[in-house]
Amino acid sequence: MGKKIAVIGTGYVGLVTGVALSDIGHHVYCLDVDPTKIDKLNRGISPIYEPELEELIQKNMQADRLHFTTDHSIAFQNAEAIYIAVGTPERADGSANLDFVQQVARDIAANVSDQGAVVVTKSTVPVGTNKLVKHWITEALDRDVAIEVVSNPEFLREGSAVYDTYNGDRIVIGAESEEAAKLIEAINKPFGVPVFRTDIESAEMIKYASNAFLAAKISFINEIGTICGKLGANIEDVAAGMGMDKRIGDKFLNAGIGYGGSCFPKDTKALIQIAGGVNHKFDLLESVINVNNKQQQLPLDIAQMVVRGGLEGKKVAMLGLAFKPNTDDMRESASIVLAHKLADLGANITAFDPIAMDNAKRLLPESVHYAASTEEALQDADVAFIVTEWDEFKDLPLTVFEQKMKQPIVIDGRNCYPLSYVETANIDYYSIGRPSVI
Ligand code: NAD
Repeated sequence: MGKKIAVIGTGYVGLVTGVALSDIGHHVYCLDVDPTKIDKLNRGISPIYEPELEELIQKNMQADRLHFTTDHSIAFQNAEAIYIAVGTPERADGSANLDFVQQVARDIAANVSDQGAVVVTKSTVPVGTNKLVKHWITEALDRDVAIEVVSNPEFLREGSAVYDTYNGDRIVIGAESEEAAKLIEAINKPFGVPVFRTDIESAEMIKYASNAFLAAKISFINEIGTICGKLGANIEDVAAGMGMDKRIGDKFLNAGIGYGGSCFPKDTKALIQIAGGVNHKFDLLESVINVNNKQQQLPLDIAQMVVRGGLEGKKVAMLGLAFKPNTDDMRESASIVLAHKLADLGANITAFDPIAMDNAKRLLPESVHYAASTEEALQDADVAFIVTEWDEFKDLPLTVFEQKMKQPIVIDGRNCYPLSYVETANIDYYSIGRPSVI
């Protein structure tokens, strides 16, 4: 028998969570303060791009299991579980901003049903926040209502969020109350994903520690890549050889122009602040961030070395704008840093991304032109940057660079092509941690 569940926040996490919970049979009310999003959703349109998501929204709306509202009283009425999935963006000092979470706590206090509810935090929040949430709610309640909190951090990856929800490596449940933990475990059972039960603080830390570790893996391989580049070694072979060691694993060993997105940059900084709060200077993580900042500068450094006469007045093609393939999310994308630096140098940028151009327009310099296709972006360009490894670019015959560009100089920030293939083409090719092909 499905449970009545409210999910607060219909962003990448909340929407996917709400839709997937309805798909496994629960009755889900997704709430957002943004009426435009709710209006779109009520018309069966996904406000974000995620593979499979829109189809699932429509399927579960038709089955009358999935509803969208801006009205708390409707969402919370008889809800056994209330999921918090609002943003926790970074403050100026790097710490997590909990204002949206605190607002949701107040809204819960004002609207929760008298039989009480289990409040489940999916948002990434610093250690101690779930207990604060319980405090915020009970403090604001004017009635005697039973509230339990459960930390249930989210590990989905944008671009494969729906798949990940059904095929996650683990569901972490951190709770004080056995009953609350059991409810959340039962809600998630149909996903068939292994559950890891722990206390609230450890669950909160698992999320930050996991993201920090993955960011460290990326910065580590990027540093090795830089050294390989100087020594004539090939980072791809180095990573492949390392990855065969099961203790290391072969995932997250792709050298490139650094991590971006809505999680790694902010969560690494937040963890430094969390550590600082208990008087620990997290030296390793600070280096991880510094390496990533340097890495994002790399394509520009290469361009300045190899484009004769400098970049001023040159036509530059940017292929890919999203922070990774299969998403329209532009938050903290390497393309933002690159586009602003190129514009400052007086380059004429033409960009193309299969999905993220609408979101990009709000973040890139106004002078950027947007092409309707890869070919149009490359037309007469003096240099091309590959920023996001969309399949569309990986599958591009290299002859297109030769034929369309004025000077076929390609700076591939994502190592999209095997060097053996590049050697067959008539282009000047620079990638990350691999020998140049000129
Ligand atoms: P998002 O910005 O895409 O969505 C947040 C949504 O919350 C927005 O639609 C916003 O309108 C809504 N909102 C804000 N305040 C609200 C309120 N008071 N009541 C109702 N709705 C409100 O954010 P996201 O990417 O989904 O991330 C949400 C949380 O999940 C963050 O803490 C993030 O760190 C974490 N997380 C994100 C990912 C990811 O890949 N995006 C993965 C794991 C964890």
